[in-house]
Amino acid sequence: MQLESLKIGQSGHIESVGGKGALRQHLLDMGVIPGASVTMIKRAPMGDPVEIRIHDYELTMRLADARQIEIIPVESIERKTPSQDDRVKTEHPGLGEEGRFHPKGTGNPLPDDTKLTFALVGNQNSGKTTLFNQLTGSKQHVGNFPGVTVDRKDGVIRGYSNTVITDLPGIYSMSPYSNEEIVSRNFVLEQKPKAIINIVDANNIERNLYLTMQLLEMDIPVVVALNMMDELRGNGGTVDINAMENMLGVPVVPISASKNEGVDELVDHAIHIAKYQEKPLRQDFCGSEDHGGAVHRAIHAVCHLIEDHASSSGIPLRFAASKLLEGDRKVAKQLQLDQNETEMLEHIVIQMENERGLDHSAAMAEMRFDYINKVCSACVIKPHESREHKRSSEIDRVLTGKYTAIPVFIGIMALVFYLTFFLVGPFFQDLLAAGIDALAGLAQRGMEAVNVSQAIQSLVLKGLFEGVGTVVSFLPIIILLFFFLSMLEDSGYVARVAFVMDKLLRKIGLSGRSIVPMLIGFGCTVPAVMSTRTLPSERDRRMTILLTPFMSCTAKMPIYGFFVSYFFPGYGWLIITGLYLLGILTGILIAFVFKSTLFKGEAVPFVMELPNYRIPTARNVAHLLWEKSSDFIHRAFSVILMATIVVWFLSSFDFGFNLVDNSHNSILAAISGVLVPIFRPIGLGDWRIVTSLISGFMAKESVVSVMETLFAGQIASLGVLTAVSMLVFSLLYTPCVAAVASIKRELGTRWAVGVVLWQCVIAWVMTLIVRLIAGIL
Ligand code: GDP
Ligand code: MG
Repeated sequence: MQLESLKIGQSGHIESVGGKGALRQHLLDMGVIPGASVTMIKRAPMGDPVEIRIHDYELTMRLADARQIEIIPVESIERKTPSQDDRVKTEHPGLGEEGRFHPKGTGNPLPDDTKLTFALVGNQNSGKTTLFNQLTGSKQHVGNFPGVTVDRKDGVIRGYSNTVITDLPGIYSMSPYSNEEIVSRNFVLEQKPKAIINIVDANNIERNLYLTMQLLEMDIPVVVALNMMDELRGNGGTVDINAMENMLGVPVVPISASKNEGVDELVDHAIHIAKYQEKPLRQDFCGSEDHGGAVHRAIHAVCHLIEDHASSSGIPLRFAASKLLEGDRKVAKQLQLDQNETEMLEHIVIQMENERGLDHSAAMAEMRFDYINKVCSACVIKPHESREHKRSSEIDRVLTGKYTAIPVFIGIMALVFYLTFFLVGPFFQDLLAAGIDALAGLAQRGMEAVNVSQAIQSLVLKGLFEGVGTVVSFLPIIILLFFFLSMLEDSGYVARVAFVMDKLLRKIGLSGRSIVPMLIGFGCTVPAVMSTRTLPSERDRRMTILLTPFMSCTAKMPIYGFFVSYFFPGYGWLIITGLYLLGILTGILIAFVFKSTLFKGEAVPFVMELPNYRIPTARNVAHLLWEKSSDFIHRAFSVILMATIVVWFLSSFDFGFNLVDNSHNSILAAISGVLVPIFRPIGLGDWRIVTSLISGFMAKESVVSVMETLFAGQIASLGVLTAVSMLVFSLLYTPCVAAVASIKRELGTRWAVGVVLWQCVIAWVMTLIVRLIAGIL
């Protein structure tokens, strides 16, 4: 029978894994291998995808993929709970084993001036970023969604100035699946760090060791950091560290990154293995006895076959052999095997498949999991069902429940927006605005007292206080939205949203994973575009990037707030909600267009881990907020202030640099006047409006500050219909320079220029439509 037909709560043993290509390899790497036991946990509210439990963790996959997996159902899977005796026997101090594991002792260190480079490698959500922050003292964004770390980050280990440690994106195996996984693999293969710190989630040793097994083949010193020991012990589990060191052939240090336990000892070991280049003591985990030894013989045969090619192309031998047997084309190409060798390799593979009765990828994956099972049964005492997991399942019953999931999602988002824009946000905003006003009054009196010239006075009051001040007063709202979004993300909820929304998003040609960049897009388009790197397919990634600008970013809030307070006081919530929805609807419409033109084809498979819910640490949240607010303030006083000053200057002088009485005669009026005809049909044919929109390309917030400067209190003369046009156009027209730059980084110049033009055209058309409708009403 197929995995798809398992009932909720039912279990089975996997018999075979169908499908092909990268997805199949990914499934195997995640532990979906013949022989493993699976339990059906739940179906998403819309019936697809499903959540299964395998190797003690939760994985999502689509029904179509579950259909490819043949299983034999069983009554129930026995769960080995630890006995009291076991626990006493394997107790250990919890601070590692005091450097006992260093066979090379102190001989032949690298010269003192060698830079010790470390790669921090591990599964997603294993705590890499948390450890990185502890090691370097620098603060990084820590998230609970698989793959929050999208960029490579370097730092120096505290107290060891001659070191560089790199936080790499999370990977499950050395067969890369998404773009950022390629980053990690290439870093280890090509940069050749002096040592690898492999972080392993102690709550999930089985799956995490799968990557470790491949790292051991890289011929680079490795230290295993066994993280989250606090949770494991808290739930009655434990690990025999010495036995594990012996079986893996590398030092293993139990740590708790978030509690900073064992980290110093980890550093000692890491420095030692790097300095003395202590490579793993064993790379050979295939047994001549296992299943008749077919895999063992194949690996060793290939090793001998390609020895010369591996050393001349600089790829670790054992790694190259494993990858060849897995069918890795990239490695095969780099090795430059000749015709004869390629044929011999094919024969070896066929022989192995025949003898083992499994295809080559599954045979390799199973060989690794075989050894991992030996390690686990010898060294690991599994905890009872962890408190964290129990809590997560209970929360999930509501948050991903069949009838509750979608209402709860809508409710949570509504609450977030309500608190941000209408309850807490405006309170602080008014407070801040009052402060800025008081300051402006003070400045004015001061300037009058010392007879500052009128021009300068107008610059300071109009440009600085009214222009930049208005923008700054939106700081609380922006910070709040980021606060809520990061709470949702760090807690693990966003991963659930992806699970719940997958089927819906597939209708517009995307997968559940695309919801993450979209939600971040409500904060700022720049990180949203960056976070698309976690998407495993180029097609999905492109499409998601092109759709994020439709999610109204926080920088547009000042524009909405400004017009609402002038023209629609009392209807703020209606207008702003309407704008957000209009943005989303336009995005959906465009997605349908994309789906049937530019981006034909199927959305990517949806294989994703669902981490336990965790409460985000105060330190991480505080850091994020600090980063965002300083970034915002910095922008307000650089880009926005500059734009305001330039606009003030151009609007105060004519081409002969004489101060003009009426800004209609200014340089700016002449320049912007050229574009006015284009904007006339949509009711924005005023050079001052055109100017402010152009300045909005620099930073959306400056639309407001420039309007304040140019209109000098005559905003009301614009009329309601113009305000409507202005709101719709600002919602949809080109993203700001920073966002366009990040799109360029991801997709190249052509796409970036395309987005600018394309968004302006869409904005123009939509504004015309809305204006016509509003005109009828
Ligand atoms: P990454 O995806 O590998 O970078 O993992 P993160 O550093 O973002 O950590 C994922 C989650 O695990 C975060 O919520 C951390 O607070 C949490 N975490 C990290 N280390 C520990 C630990 O030692 N103990 C516990 N209980 N939680 C941890
Ligand atoms: Mg991280």
